Amino acid sequence: MRVVVKEDNASLARIEEKCINCGVCQKTCLENNNIGDNCINCGQCILTCPTGALVPKYVYQKVLNYINDTDYTVVVLTSPAVRVAIGDEFGFEAGAFLEGKMVGALKKLGFDYVFDTTFGADLTVMEEASELVSRLAKKQTLFTSCCPAWVSFMALKHPEDLDYLSTSKSPIAMLGAMVKTYFADFNNLNKEKIITVALAPCVAKKYEMKFNDDVDFVITTRELAMMMRECGIDFPNCIDQEFDKLLGTGSGAGLIFGSSGGVMEATLRTAYYMLNKEKAPDKFYELAEVRGQADFKETIVDMKGQKLKVAVLNKVANVEKYYSQLKNYDFVEVMSCPTGCVGGGGQPLVASSQAALYQAKRQQSLYASDKENKLKESYANKDLQVAYSTYINKNKVNLHREKEKIPR
Ligand code: SF4
Ligand code: SF4
Ligand code: SF4
Repeated sequence: MRVVVKEDNASLARIEEKCINCGVCQKTCLENNNIGDNCINCGQCILTCPTGALVPKYVYQKVLNYINDTDYTVVVLTSPAVRVAIGDEFGFEAGAFLEGKMVGALKKLGFDYVFDTTFGADLTVMEEASELVSRLAKKQTLFTSCCPAWVSFMALKHPEDLDYLSTSKSPIAMLGAMVKTYFADFNNLNKEKIITVALAPCVAKKYEMKFNDDVDFVITTRELAMMMRECGIDFPNCIDQEFDKLLGTGSGAGLIFGSSGGVMEATLRTAYYMLNKEKAPDKFYELAEVRGQADFKETIVDMKGQKLKVAVLNKVANVEKYYSQLKNYDFVEVMSCPTGCVGGGGQPLVASSQAALYQAKRQQSLYASDKENKLKESYANKDLQVAYSTYINKNKVNLHREKEKIPR
């Protein structure tokens, strides 16, 4: 038995000549998702296929064509989990934090602007924390929705409960919307001539973006490595560079989105501030109970007078076991891939026996960077405050997804 990969699957493909019918992909799918023959585009089977028969749907050649076409401004948006995994392709230590080198390499590849999806994550936090606060008042549970594989799982298994999902756009979709509006207007550019490319650890985003007009392409960490090799870029010797201004500064909270438990921790920091008009206590900056690689994590958070029950599920295969209890929590995070996006289906291949260790190192690297970052709260991001006050509110930029545009 092997997984079904349909021709029109937006995330992955099978190279038939390479398939030896070993059934490893089916086992992986069962362990991670347990959704029968339905594909939720997580890409985990790509990581364990022993012959390389399963591959992400590659689009990086199209991106290179746009880079070479001077009519277009090509903008890349980089997800948190890429910078702690790209080094695996070039012999760096597992979890090496290579943000500056990654930006330098993207500039060398010819991208016109390099922005940070952590800025988009900060926007997701702001909108999602507002939703959390308003649901708390109504005693309604909020489920995160930034993982498209989890959203697809919900649409398949619990379509009657879709309203539990946050309506806030995912970080990539947020940033795509900002590039095609705020950035385009700021630079007086025709948005039809802007190409947005999300660089992500994720193949499910290739599917999610079929429902979003603001992101033109999604390339994976492995595709970035392929682009560099094809273009003769010597990654280990690339000079560190900084993100471009306007949409290039994200908080530590935005950065930990790449780890299971990170969306929860990031959102709670801002929800606390929204509820109490003061910075959250130190505990919110190292919420150990929701960190790590356990399948199910839970805790009670004191929001100063209000106790919040929160739960974090790591891998959707674990959802059904706990589903009947989830509505007893105030806030629930689910990420489909093991350890969250650091373990995404577009990340570099490592031996299966080493996968959990690599994911843990990437996760620790993100938390270490959050710890070092002076900016740890999304609401305190100055660039984001300027964007809200000068543009988002005035121009009514849509930061929420339309109900009918839920991936399914
Ligand atoms: S794991 Fe790869 S080689 Fe094995 S059955 Fe699946 S696609 Fe074929
Ligand atoms: S992409 Fe994920 S859901 Fe789809 S077949 Fe592979 S493991 Fe299963
Ligand atoms: S956990 Fe992250 S990488 Fe995996 S499918 Fe969800 S969004 Fe993509």
